[in-house]
Amino acid sequence: MLVQSFLPMSITPSSSAKGNLFVVSAPSGAGKSSLIKALLEQYSTDNHPLQVSVSHTTRAPRPGEKDGVHYHFVTVDAFKALVEEDGFFEWAEVFGKYYGTSKQAIADTLERGIDVFLDIDWQGARQVKAQLPDAHTVFILPPSVAELERRLTGRGQDSAEVIAGRMAEAVSEMSHVDEFDYVLVNDDFDETLRSFLSIVQAQRQTQAFVKTAHGRLINALLGR
Ligand code: 5GP
Repeated sequence: MLVQSFLPMSITPSSSAKGNLFVVSAPSGAGKSSLIKALLEQYSTDNHPLQVSVSHTTRAPRPGEKDGVHYHFVTVDAFKALVEEDGFFEWAEVFGKYYGTSKQAIADTLERGIDVFLDIDWQGARQVKAQLPDAHTVFILPPSVAELERRLTGRGQDSAEVIAGRMAEAVSEMSHVDEFDYVLVNDDFDETLRSFLSIVQAQRQTQAFVKTAHGRLINALLGR
């Protein structure tokens, strides 16, 4: 009780603490989207809110995908107009289609103290890191070549040529693994999810983050 009278009213993060930005890349078949989805569903809380950024793309929606939820599905002209207006934080051509993260998609969210996840390719990750060195980049690898092949083979309905093409794309994406801050090998899903969570939580314990989030508490504890 006595201690309480010395402490400021709020010892929860102050409104000046901004969210952290995480960039997550992986070859197709590594489990990236499932890991991000599970992380948000299981670990986003009021004290530590997590959100995924919704990208713009010129590719067509797949069955079950909703505009504004999975992507903002736009025409090539609309995409190019946004590029002209300098509306993208980063953008890239991936497999012949345009993909981009709009500035609007992340700025307000980070300001509000929410951690934001970008599910983007290595080209986008490189652009983000160049503009925001404080962003945390995470690369997810499959556990073996055999497992990657198995995951890319799908239901066995695709030709050997199609599968070989997917493998080549995966190898091309993985050749950038050493540009990333963290690397997760997705062998056991739950274990990988825990490792992913530990990376995310650790960024709230850095000196820089704690100074901003708990500056008043630290001053009070030190009698300043
Ligand atoms: P898909 O078409 O399978 O959803 O995504 C294909 C690739 O594009 C994935 O590697 C995905 O991470 C990447 N991607 C999705 N959105 C963006 C984006 O906004 N920017 C960049 N650079 N890549 C993206």
